[in-house]
Amino acid sequence: MQGLHLSNIHKSFGATRVLEDVSFSADPGCFVVIVGPSGCGKTTLLRALAGLEAVDAGEIALAGRTITDLSPAARNIAMVFQNYALYPTKTVRQNIGFGLRQRKTARAEIDRRIAEVANTLQMAHLLDRRPSQLSGGQRQRVAIGRAMVRDPALFLFDEPLSNLDAALRNDLRIEIKRIHRQMETISVFVTHDQLEAMSLADILVVMRDGRIEQMGPPYDVFRNPATRFVAGFIGTPAMNFLPARVDGAEAVLSTGLRIRLPALQRLASGTLIDIGIRPDDLALCDKGADNSILGRVDVIQELGTTRLVSFLTDCGPVSMVQPAADQRPESETGLRLISDSCKAFLQETGEVIN
Ligand code: ATP
Repeated sequence: MQGLHLSNIHKSFGATRVLEDVSFSADPGCFVVIVGPSGCGKTTLLRALAGLEAVDAGEIALAGRTITDLSPAARNIAMVFQNYALYPTKTVRQNIGFGLRQRKTARAEIDRRIAEVANTLQMAHLLDRRPSQLSGGQRQRVAIGRAMVRDPALFLFDEPLSNLDAALRNDLRIEIKRIHRQMETISVFVTHDQLEAMSLADILVVMRDGRIEQMGPPYDVFRNPATRFVAGFIGTPAMNFLPARVDGAEAVLSTGLRIRLPALQRLASGTLIDIGIRPDDLALCDKGADNSILGRVDVIQELGTTRLVSFLTDCGPVSMVQPAADQRPESETGLRLISDSCKAFLQETGEVIN
């Protein structure tokens, strides 16, 4: 079977379970991004793929062969780390060519591959410098170049952009995506930055406590989160959650506002739920208008083309995104929830109610 296939991977460190029944597949050319909060097992999963960490159970297959027990060198995988891991005394050319030289590749072939990679990464003019003579972004380019030159079946990226400033992160993100497209290999990219995850992924894998909470194309995960955790983790600014209880097909907020959601019908009246609404699915209205809650402006952040307004309400804090050209809200205003955009989650389990 072509592509990458992880089946039922388990891993513990002593009594600590770090990966629990992790399975996913990726076709050639697929960009997989693993995202999740600190400590959820992302790096351990990547290290298991690279062969740097043995798994307790499960199977990893790549490009038609089982690699679960192969050494890192035998897996045809290249890894790019957060801290570059370049040889400080070697030039860029030597750093990029190192792996090829070790594998006794012919000199002319090494030169050709280095030139090709340097061209793609626009760093032909840097080939004779040492890492200490490069900026952070340039060092990370070299690290990517060193991975590319080997023409691996799988690229692994462990938070490669987290040491870079925002502008450079964005540039390199675009570059990584472009290179990935050119090479048509599989990439697995780990980050705790959900914005980065959304922007790079063909398949987004959201992890929590060593398990996959949800995976799928990023927009599907964003629009149809399976759990309250995913809904709160994916999307910036984060989704608002308002506690409510079920009454027939309606959610009743603590203010008495009723929101009609047909899916609630399958729950017993009185069930405690959270209503989730994205900050851009709220609208301003007159104070006291029908179907609204009262919002008191807490903090306003101007973000350029949009403005983020944080309100205090009787249902808890609520944030809303407004076009910056719109008028700023009064200190007290009505807030209308666009009910078509509301999600409902069981408070007990976090599961979405569809
Ligand atoms: P971060 O985003 O902070 O890097 P992560 O999602 O990559 O976190 P991991 O580094 O995979 O998480 O760690 C998962 C869990 O496993 C953590 O609780 C961590 O403390 C534990 N852990 C990782 N490596 C080891 C180890 N060698 N020995 C014992 N525990 C470990």
